[in-house]
Amino acid sequence: MNTSLSIHDLSGYSRLFPAQAGLIAACLAACVGHGDVDPREEQLASAAQAELTMAAAPLYQDPSAPVPDRVADLLSRMTLDQKIGQMTQVERSSLQSDQHIADYHLGSLLSGGGSAPANNTPSAWADMVDGYQSVAMSTTLAIPLLYGIDAVHGHNNVRGATIFPHNIGLGASRNPALAEDIGRITAKEVYATGIRWDFAPTLCVGRDERWGRTYECFGEHPEVPAMMSSFIDGLQGNYTGGAGLGGINGVLATAKHWVGDGGTTWGTGEGSYQIDQGDTQISEAELRDVHIAPYHDAIARDVGSVMPSYSSWNGEKMHGHAYLLNDVLRDELGFDGFVISDWQAIDQIPGDYASDVRTSINAGVDMVMVPHDYITFQNTLRNEVNAGNVSMARIDQAVGRILTKKFELGLFEQPYADRTHIAEIGSAAHRDVARQAVRESLVLLKNSGVLPLAKDVQKVLVAGKNADDIGNQSGGWTISWQGSSGDITPGTTILEAVQASVSPSTTVEYKERPNGRLSADVGIVVVGETPYAEGQGDNNSLTLSVTDRNAIKNVCNAMPCVVVLISGRPMMIEGELPKIDALVAAWLPGTEGQGVTDVLFGDYDFTGTLPLSWPRTISQVPINVGDTSYDPLFPYGFGLSYQP
Ligand code: BGC
Ligand code: BGC
Repeated sequence: MNTSLSIHDLSGYSRLFPAQAGLIAACLAACVGHGDVDPREEQLASAAQAELTMAAAPLYQDPSAPVPDRVADLLSRMTLDQKIGQMTQVERSSLQSDQHIADYHLGSLLSGGGSAPANNTPSAWADMVDGYQSVAMSTTLAIPLLYGIDAVHGHNNVRGATIFPHNIGLGASRNPALAEDIGRITAKEVYATGIRWDFAPTLCVGRDERWGRTYECFGEHPEVPAMMSSFIDGLQGNYTGGAGLGGINGVLATAKHWVGDGGTTWGTGEGSYQIDQGDTQISEAELRDVHIAPYHDAIARDVGSVMPSYSSWNGEKMHGHAYLLNDVLRDELGFDGFVISDWQAIDQIPGDYASDVRTSINAGVDMVMVPHDYITFQNTLRNEVNAGNVSMARIDQAVGRILTKKFELGLFEQPYADRTHIAEIGSAAHRDVARQAVRESLVLLKNSGVLPLAKDVQKVLVAGKNADDIGNQSGGWTISWQGSSGDITPGTTILEAVQASVSPSTTVEYKERPNGRLSADVGIVVVGETPYAEGQGDNNSLTLSVTDRNAIKNVCNAMPCVVVLISGRPMMIEGELPKIDALVAAWLPGTEGQGVTDVLFGDYDFTGTLPLSWPRTISQVPINVGDTSYDPLFPYGFGLSYQP
C-alpha cells in the first residue's frame, strides 16, 4: 500500500470535498493503523491526520472557531445566488413548494400573524418548523434557516400559549424586571416550537392615540420603552443564570420600528390607512430626543436585529433612508446586528421594483421580508448586482451580518427544535407571571370608595361585552393578525375570575347587555374596544359604543359600580365619569383575568401609573406630557392606589 500517496491525495481531496472529509479521514486512519507503513511515513501520517480531523468539517462548521472566522469561511464558499438567498425572507404560506427552500437557498422564513399549522398545537408548530429546516439542512452548505415570528405579547400565534398584556399595559407597570421575566418566558415558549427569532419588542413612542398601534408601545415618553427594553435581555438570555443567545432559550430580539413609527401625522397614512405607515413630520432634534432615544438602550443590550418602520420621516421612507439606517443607527449608535425589512415595505419606496430593491439594500436593509414573490425579488437583486448597482461588498456585508447572528444563536449546532420545555407552553408558572403583569398594569383612575370589593359581598352583577371574552381582553395579534372576539385560546375571563374570587355564598350574576330592573350590591362593568391591529385600528373618535355607554348607565344608575376599561389606549370617558364610582384602565390584559380581580378584591394594591396622557376630548389629541398647554383628563404618570 502506498500510504504516502494516499495521505497527500486524501488530504487534498478532503479540502475540496468538505462533506466527504469525514469518510476520507476514516479511510486514512485505517491505512495508518494498518501497520505496513514505512516508519518515516508514520510521523507525516499523524500530522496529516490532525490536519484532516480539522478538515473533516469545514471551518464554518467548527463551533470552537471564532464567529468572524466561521463567517469568512462560509462566505468564501458561497455563490452569489446562495448569498441572495440568505437575504430573502419568505412567509411560509407563500412558498410554492418546500423544496424551494433549497432551490432558492432561502435564509429565513416567517409566520405572519395567524400563519399557523393546520393543527394549532405547540408540537405541530415544532414539527412544521423542523420540516422546513430539514430542507435547508439538506443543501450542500447546510446553512440553517432562521425562522421569525411576532411573539409580541407571549407566543401569541400559538393556541394555548401564555398571553401577556400588550406593551401599553406593561408600560403602566414601569417594572423592567417584569419585562425581562416576560422576555425570558416568551423565549422559552418560542424556542420550544423551534423558532429562534422574535419580531419584538416594539419600541415605539406613541404620540397619538388615534394610531391603531398605540398598544404596541410602552408609552408616550421615551423613558418607558427605554426602561422596558429589558425585555431584550430576557429574550436573548442575558440575565443571571441565562446562557445568552446561543444557550437553550436564547431567541434573537428585534427592536422595531426604526424610527418615528409612533410620531406620524394624522391624515398621512399609507393607502387607506389614516395614520399608520404615515409621515413623521418633526425636526431631527425631536426625532432624536423622542423616538431614537430608546434605541440607545436596546443597542446597549445588544439587540440582534432592527426592523425599519413603514413610515417616513419628513417625506422620506425609512426603508430607503441611508442616513438613518447607516449613519445614525450603525455608525453613531453602534448597532452591529442585521436589519430586517418590514412586510413588503420596500415596495413602498418610490420608483419601480428594481429601484426599491437597490435603494433599500444600499440604504442598509440586510434581509428583506419579501414576503410573497421571492423569485422576483431574487431575480431583481441579482440583476442589480450584475449591473453594478449593488456592490458585492455590500452583499457580503449584509450576508455576513445575518450569518453572524446564526452562528451566535448556535443554529448550526442545534438547527432543530429542542422540545425540552414544550410542556411549559402556557404552564401555570408562566401564567402566574402574566397574572402578575396584569395586576401591575392596572391603573386606578377614580375611586369614590367602592374599591376594594369585599369577597363576601352578597351579590355582584358583572356586565358588558368585554367581561367574558378572552379574544376581546387579548386584543390584536392573538391567534390571528387582527385578533378576534370569542373563545380563541385558553385563559380566564374577568367574569370567571370574579366567580373564582368571591366567597361561596356570593351570587354572581352576568348580563352582557344589562337592562331592565337590575339589583346587586355592586356592579362590575367591563367595556371598551374590540380587537384590531395595525391600520385597521386607526380611529378618529375613540368613543365608547352606544352599547357600552348603556351598560355603564344602566348598571351605575342602579348600584355602586366599577367600570373596567379594556382598550389599547385611552377612550373618551369624561362624560361618563360622574356616573362611575370607580374606573380602572386594564388595557389589553391577555389571558389571565385573575390579575384584574386580585386587585379589585384587595389582595393587591394598584401600582400602575399612566404610560400616556388621557385626553378629555379627541380634539386634544395629540396630547403628550411636556406640551406647553397641557390639560388632560388624567396626566401622564397618574394612578391612584388604596394607600392614602
Ligand atoms: C408589521 C410588523 C411585523 C410584520 C410581520 C408588519 O405588518 O408592521 O410589526 O413584524 O408585519 O408580521
Ligand atoms: C399578516 C401580518 C402582516 C400583515 C401585513 C398579514 O396578512 O398576517 O403578519 O403583518 O399581513 O399587512
